[in-house]
Amino acid sequence: MKELLQHAQHIVIFTHMAPDGDAMGSALALYHWLGGKPEVIVPNAFPAFFNWMPGADRIHVYEKEKAACDALIAAADLFICTDFNDPKRIGPMGDKMLANPCPKILIDHHLNPTDFADEVHSHPEASSSCEIVYKLLFGDKSSISNQQSSISNKVATCLYTGLMTDTGNFSFNSTRAELYDIIAELLRAGVQKDAIYDAVFNQYSEHRVRLTGYALYRKMRIYPEHHLALITLSADELDQYHYQVGDTEGLVNMPLQISDVYYSVFMREERAKPGTPKSRIRISFRSQGDRPVNIWASEVFHGGGHANASGGEIFGTIGQAVRLFEQTYKTYLK
Ligand code: 5GP
Ligand code: MN
Repeated sequence: MKELLQHAQHIVIFTHMAPDGDAMGSALALYHWLGGKPEVIVPNAFPAFFNWMPGADRIHVYEKEKAACDALIAAADLFICTDFNDPKRIGPMGDKMLANPCPKILIDHHLNPTDFADEVHSHPEASSSCEIVYKLLFGDKSSISNQQSSISNKVATCLYTGLMTDTGNFSFNSTRAELYDIIAELLRAGVQKDAIYDAVFNQYSEHRVRLTGYALYRKMRIYPEHHLALITLSADELDQYHYQVGDTEGLVNMPLQISDVYYSVFMREERAKPGTPKSRIRISFRSQGDRPVNIWASEVFHGGGHANASGGEIFGTIGQAVRLFEQTYKTYLK
């Protein structure tokens, strides 16, 4: 990896669709560590609550500047893919990346990456891709930078953001002691951890908080025999609450606060794009303990993910998605 980085002149860093804190953090940490030289391209818009992240203003959003991004992708001599395991997760850019034969580095913690990268750092046991980036850059004597004191505040801030968001502020995937050794190093590098928490979790609009209230009060259905909850939000309902990208982030986790609910599903309608006939229903799955949801997500909803956190989609109406859900949950859930 060190050699690949040394020889590259035009590095492009990709991360996945609907970027989350770990996607943003792992991509931007590498961007800063590489001196701000790489281009970071994300498939679609990231939530405004990541605008404060150092380097967020330098990110290219493919949906908004396709031609410029296509030129960057064609001219790249090294790709770094963070926090995703399949070119499909970067949408139409996936095929464009594969069309460029230059080396590709994968840094990720999702299961079973498809075989597209030349240099693979896949660690499903890691809390986050940011944890893997930390270890690659600063982990031990064999790490790339080979110096302990070289963690800049920007790099540390980006990495901490991913560690924090991918573990639900250290409430899951976060029981290994070494994670806290990393956090200690990041704090020594000057990370303002409480300010980062505040920037990500306490800067919502009033509409967002009311949308959450509406979803829980009026739109949550419980299937008690299967310890399952379902929330759906149509495009019209989202409009009523002035929906912005990211406003439903975390909503799918909330039904799990109910003591007898172990599975939670959230469906969100996106209106059909011009020229396409059907709306897209984006579906999130969450579960607790030994109750995988990823097989259900992949076999029924064209998605996949981690055992306890998966995603998928169908093209059609919310009603069709709910029917599919109701026809299949008994097969896939314990
Ligand atoms: P979310 O519900 O936050 O959108 O997605 C939860 C997790 O599911 C993500 O971290 C990702 O690992 C996985 N995931 C979401 N959508 C897809 C998808 O379409 N395909 C696959 N393979 N995984 C997905
Ligand atoms: Mn992640």
